[in-house]
Amino acid sequence: MEVLNWLAGRLSDDEIASLTAASAHGAERRLQKQRHIRMRQTSSGKVNLIKILNRDGWVCQICGVRTPPELRGTREPSAPEVDHIIPLARGGLHIADNMQCACHACNKAKAARVPIAANDNHKVGSTQAA
Ligand SMILES: [Zn+2]
Repeated sequence: MEVLNWLAGRLSDDEIASLTAASAHGAERRLQKQRHIRMRQTSSGKVNLIKILNRDGWVCQICGVRTPPELRGTREPSAPEVDHIIPLARGGLHIADNMQCACHACNKAKAARVPIAANDNHKVGSTQAA
């Protein structure tokens, strides 16, 4: 009987834990929705990327390399790209103040450092060595 009581206690603990997890998940979903709405609101006027590149003088704000306009859209390391200073995935806004000129090389390196989801860390298995 005592064991049953103990088991019941364990079960309700698990239920509480799963309920907490569910509500935390809901909060995350709500946050993503808010972020999406905010993104739509702030991008309604469409950020002028050329304006940002002109503002930054077509110079990578991360490494300082010149990013020639004629390389725009190419995969050259110094091709000009517009980078979100605070990534959208981390709550950054899609507005000119949060955007900067970055060369393709820096933008690529930054993207690799900022995983889209924090959960990605869990997927890195032993098979991915190399
Ligand atoms: Zn750079």
